[in-house]
Amino acid sequence: MCESVRKNIRAVGQAIESACQKSGRARGDVSLVAVSKTKPVPMLLEAYEAGTRDFGENRVQELLEKIPQMPSDVRWHMIGHLQTNKVKYIVDKVYLIHSVDSLRLAEEISREALKKNVTVRILIEVNVAGEESKFGTTVSETAALAENIAKLPAVKIEGLMTIAPFVEDPEDNRVYFRKLRQLSVDIAGRNIDNVSMDIMSMGMTGDYSVAVEEGATYVRVGSGIFGGRT
Ligand SMILES: *Cc1c(COP(=O)(O)O)cnc(C)c1O
Repeated sequence: MCESVRKNIRAVGQAIESACQKSGRARGDVSLVAVSKTKPVPMLLEAYEAGTRDFGENRVQELLEKIPQMPSDVRWHMIGHLQTNKVKYIVDKVYLIHSVDSLRLAEEISREALKKNVTVRILIEVNVAGEESKFGTTVSETAALAENIAKLPAVKIEGLMTIAPFVEDPEDNRVYFRKLRQLSVDIAGRNIDNVSMDIMSMGMTGDYSVAVEEGATYVRVGSGIFGGRT
């Protein structure tokens, strides 16, 4: 088991590198978030020992259990749907929240962040493919949402995130990654105060190479590192 996490991380790193070469991007512009949801702490430690510092979790309870068991230089990424009543538990513990899709949630994050004297870095989650089953704002609502969130005192928008459809052929998702990239360029062009579009969080185990070719700065890889989840 030890060997395989390390090996998988190396393989993912190499695939990211070749996608960068193919698309003329710098390897240093793409970071890997190891999505460790449902996986036990010893496996996270193997990834840590192999050099991983960015870990992604999608449930608040699990995140809170894992944080004290891992070294303090881990950067925790909240990538799952976040309920407003749980915001207070994590605002001062996470490096980046990838999954903000409403003003109400952003307001709650700002309120709790003010109490703890922190500024929380967030991404807006966009449902680019318009799938009914998914969270996320629509493409057409995103810029207005960014403008409203930007007025809040203790949150900082750093970019966009999307979860592409589950597909057999990752090429089928290229169009959605491209759309997110275009949206990011559009919003950056509006020069909204307090809004940066530096981060694009897109691509999972099945499609991260295509996402990197289309401009991802964070890829979120779970099963490709830690094995399948049951
Ligand atoms: C689970 C999850 C991932 C990782 O999925 P894999 O297919 O296992 O790589 C990435 N992003 C989000 C938001 C997830 O919930």
